[in-house]
Amino acid sequence: MNKKYRRAIIAGNWKMNMTPTEVRDYAAELKPLIPKEKLCDIVLCAPAVTIPAAVRAFRATRVAIGGQNMHYEASGAYTGEISADMLVAAGAKYTIIGHSERRAYYGETDADVNKKLHAALAAGLRPIVCVGETLDQRETGAACSLINYQLSMALYGLDATTVRRVTIAYEPIWAIGTGRAATAEDAEEVCRDIRIFLRSNFGARSARAVSILYGGSMKPANAAELLACPDIDGGLIGGASLKAGEFGQIIAAAQETARMQREEDEAE
Ligand code: PEP
Repeated sequence: MNKKYRRAIIAGNWKMNMTPTEVRDYAAELKPLIPKEKLCDIVLCAPAVTIPAAVRAFRATRVAIGGQNMHYEASGAYTGEISADMLVAAGAKYTIIGHSERRAYYGETDADVNKKLHAALAAGLRPIVCVGETLDQRETGAACSLINYQLSMALYGLDATTVRRVTIAYEPIWAIGTGRAATAEDAEEVCRDIRIFLRSNFGARSARAVSILYGGSMKPANAAELLACPDIDGGLIGGASLKAGEFGQIIAAAQETARMQREEDEAE
């Protein structure tokens, strides 16, 4: 297994939850659960107004804070929007781009995702680009071709070096917030296909360096099985990231998986 070439990442997506006041209690509960040994990266993607409080609450820990969305323009007449530089100034290191909720409710297109990705990278953020299919698309057997299309649009214009700064999150839409996660087998099939896409478009070295996350009802009960898959390098977690205890258990599962894989790699 060649997971040694990429980072394991456990990223929480708080969505429209968690006020600046609430984040203090959350941090107090999560901090003791953060393992000292850095076997996976930990990210929490907060609502924009909560980012500074989250950065303060997790200062001197290894938890990085991210945004959930951003505009591709640097500034201007875009009421209600925030730019990549604003996220950076607030202390964010990551940002989610192209979450299916943004695509579904706010009409975000694949072309928007591509522009946002370029703007995020130019600002020095680490983008987490979401792709995924609806249940209808899965049932007609179109999941992998749709995701290949989403990726080719999202990653358009990147070179083999820059793409290594991108994290891909495979998030089947039918699994998000439904309690019905993809099976490890189904999730791995798509994540493997994403890796193949990366290899054909950016070469083997980049393909093995890009972290691919699974998202969609990941919980403490199913995390270990999903994270053990060869092409799944971590999770993007919505509901379960709102409870510090559950998020801590998922981090523990990722640490344990990374430890086992490191031992396997050393034995090879
Ligand atoms: C998400 O919103 O990215 C997500 C995966 O949500 P949940 O874990 O609640 O399915």
